[in-house]
Amino acid sequence: MEDVSRVGSMTSKGSSIESSVVLSERSLKVEMPPELLRGVYLHECLAQWGKHWASSDTVERASDVRLSRPTQRIDNFLSHDWKTSRWLKLAALLVVFNSRAAAVGTLLVSVGVGILRASHVLPDEAWTVAIGHATWVCIFFGWQRLRSFCRPRTVFLDKLCIAQHDVALKEQGILGLAAFLAIADELTVLWSPRTLQRLWCVYEISTFLRRPEKRKQVKVMPVKLALLLCVNSLSWFVVAGGYSVISNKSSREVTWTRTLLGSLCMCFAAVFLPWTYYVGIGMMEDLSTLPKQLSNFRIQDAESTCCSRRHIHPETQQVVPCDRELVFATLQQWFGRPGDAPGKYLVDFNLLVRKELAPSVLKSVGRDHLPVWYTLYMAVSGSTPFLSDCISLLAKGPPANLSSGGTVIWGTRTFISFAYVPVLAILATRLNLCFCWHGFRMAHHSACRSRFCLAVLLSQLGVIIIATFWALFFISSNHVEASSWIPIVPFLLLLATTAILFRTGCI
Ligand SMILES: [Zn+2]
Repeated sequence: MEDVSRVGSMTSKGSSIESSVVLSERSLKVEMPPELLRGVYLHECLAQWGKHWASSDTVERASDVRLSRPTQRIDNFLSHDWKTSRWLKLAALLVVFNSRAAAVGTLLVSVGVGILRASHVLPDEAWTVAIGHATWVCIFFGWQRLRSFCRPRTVFLDKLCIAQHDVALKEQGILGLAAFLAIADELTVLWSPRTLQRLWCVYEISTFLRRPEKRKQVKVMPVKLALLLCVNSLSWFVVAGGYSVISNKSSREVTWTRTLLGSLCMCFAAVFLPWTYYVGIGMMEDLSTLPKQLSNFRIQDAESTCCSRRHIHPETQQVVPCDRELVFATLQQWFGRPGDAPGKYLVDFNLLVRKELAPSVLKSVGRDHLPVWYTLYMAVSGSTPFLSDCISLLAKGPPANLSSGGTVIWGTRTFISFAYVPVLAILATRLNLCFCWHGFRMAHHSACRSRFCLAVLLSQLGVIIIATFWALFFISSNHVEASSWIPIVPFLLLLATTAILFRTGCI
């Protein structure tokens, strides 16, 4: 939810909420008539590639609010900024709500395909890996639609849950935001640098902070970080696909089609990778503001459109009341105590944001940090389908004349030959963010200020590191006996490096 004026501006001419609020006694409500407490199913929110999230879609329709329905419980209150791109918000929503299901679904299907290949129900051929990839795409984009058949997720999206076509109902809905927040289990903030600068976004966060048991339920996803995870996942999908085509284990025959397809994938990845760094360096511009915004947070500095317009309606020239006074009065009720000095409730609230909200947000998404689980779900999914290759190989059994110890090592190595790529993808994602952070700093503090040049240079450095890890494994695997444990060493080294990088962050 953004500010009242913004929601007002989504209405047709002359029907802004600002003009209507003069008509009524204004105060923020914590309770609402049950028929106005509405939620919308998430799959309807995401319909048609997130068309409801577009700021350009300013036509108010009674049919929009009919998508929502009265409810006594909301799973997620979605807090966002109407000026942020619809596509960025769509990427963030897909990562937050669908990536885990897509990762788990792909894992299960890949295991299933592997078992069917091993038992000759499916042909033991490389193309069957595509079933896993198709599963990921279907679940990543359609999970909310699928789960709507048993338990749909109910969310709050201002545009669909507050009547936009009826001025009085809209005012009632906006002033009763706290009632929606009170029945929400989680507050999901689609963060952009504007979030903590907008009065109404801060108000939404404050309703969760005032109740200690709900403070941990404020989840922040920077929208550009979600985009980076999507772009990174796509590039690893291409790399893994290209590598699989080139090194097809079920056929040693080198054909022109294979060589051409594999080379195309690798060329695409070579162009795509610098672009992910380019996006990443730009993203750091946004993320770098988050720690400062949180540690210096002052609600007194939050902006509202009414103040920026000096409380004069741009069309009717009527005086409009101030949203800031409204929000501050409510904060005084929530955070003030009898006998406090004037304005102390604002100081207390600012401290609450700095001390309670800031650490939990910065731990997972501040500066160069990555949300670990979302990174895992997104980075490994491009490689998970190749698990069916691994299961098929394991089912065929070890080479003849191996001792029982040698068989265990052979099995471990076969599994590692699959697991190496997903772990490498996780490391590459972490390195990507690390280098992007340094690229951002170099762009501001060094002689080399071209974002494009930095993206190309740093991506090549990333490629060298990843290629070195890969070469260590490839060389050690191909020059020792099947029962040798030596190729396990580079895998352990890779695991340790990845774990350390996630734990320590960038230097
Ligand atoms: Zn104002």
